[in-house]
Amino acid sequence: MDLDDALTQRMHELYTGLHANPELSMQEHRTAELIEGRLEDLGAETFRCGGTGVVGILRNGDGPVVGFRADTDGLPVKEDTGLEYASTANGVLPDGTEVPVMHACGHDTHVTAALTTAELLSAKQDAWAGTVVFIFQPGEETAAGAKAMVDDGLWDKAPRPEIIYGQHVMPQPAGTVHVSRGTAMAMADSWKVTVPGRGGHGSQPQDTTDPIVLAAHMVVRIQTIVSREVDPRESAVVTIGSFHAGLKENIIPAAAEFTLNVRSFKPEVREKVLASIRRIIRAEAEASGAPEPGITEISSFPQCYNDPDAAGAVLNELRRELGEGNVEETQPLMGSEDFGSLARAIGVPSVYWFFGGHPSGMFDSGSPVPSNHSPHFAPVMEPTLSTGVRAAVTAILSRVGRQ
Ligand code: ZN
Ligand code: ZN
Repeated sequence: MDLDDALTQRMHELYTGLHANPELSMQEHRTAELIEGRLEDLGAETFRCGGTGVVGILRNGDGPVVGFRADTDGLPVKEDTGLEYASTANGVLPDGTEVPVMHACGHDTHVTAALTTAELLSAKQDAWAGTVVFIFQPGEETAAGAKAMVDDGLWDKAPRPEIIYGQHVMPQPAGTVHVSRGTAMAMADSWKVTVPGRGGHGSQPQDTTDPIVLAAHMVVRIQTIVSREVDPRESAVVTIGSFHAGLKENIIPAAAEFTLNVRSFKPEVREKVLASIRRIIRAEAEASGAPEPGITEISSFPQCYNDPDAAGAVLNELRRELGEGNVEETQPLMGSEDFGSLARAIGVPSVYWFFGGHPSGMFDSGSPVPSNHSPHFAPVMEPTLSTGVRAAVTAILSRVGRQ
């Protein structure tokens, strides 16, 4: 199935329009309307799910049911790409802060590729038979969207697929695709830790419990979990990304607060690291004679696991479609995704792959390549978008295509 010039041009217009109009997580209202409109034009059944989530169902007679997911949200990043179609949009975070918004993770490429895939499939109905369920998921960046759709009855309303596919644009050469067998991305857990002490005058520490000294011990000791407690043959990362306490040099504050982020590949390693963090926080507070600290979950990203057989099949199909040299089997990434929740909710396999978005010359230039979430992240339209479409169509047709 090939993209002709007219479809390619529509795809590029769709992309620049989406790129210029990003919306924050779980607020993708205009994006959802646009997706619904496009799907309805194709004759797909649609329904809303999980707020700003949209499901589009393409039915084409008897046959297997396949799911394909694209995430739709932008990020609070001020775009600095210099592109003609750069975003100047603003949004409001849940805490009321007004922020600039950008498709800095490239989810606009995902929406564009998925809608174009739907258009191709609906135009070439003689090439396949079955049902394709397109899941346009909001709120990936906050790990809220997949859960919101599942909780809103996604799988009660949509036909249940035998497999779910998904893809993400990455700082790799455009035209290439990267697939791993087994774990594709890490689980990620983020917590806020509030450490109460007892405040007072800096000259009279004997009348206080200093939460800065206490929380500093926690921060240092937590560093020993990966180095001293996790089996060296396994992987985990613990990062404490913020630490706030106090206002003035001679006041011992009443509390300290820090936030942390844990990445792991295996459920048992995750459990161990999280239990160790809890133990250290509790024990250090006790060692200081302080009240028990509070731990609140900020977000929790599930495992993103590629069924090894299904991933092997995708690798073979993509190599045939895109050429051996353009498809690579890769190691798991330490980044995270809530994609896995969609398939796990109904116990079916899933495969998630990565497609490149940067001109290949950029990698030889010696200068740093902008990563996802950077204000400079600017995928080139081609061959990025057409590769995303070809990868999606190829994987879907490997299940529903007529030979
Ligand atoms: Zn992202
Ligand atoms: Zn992303």
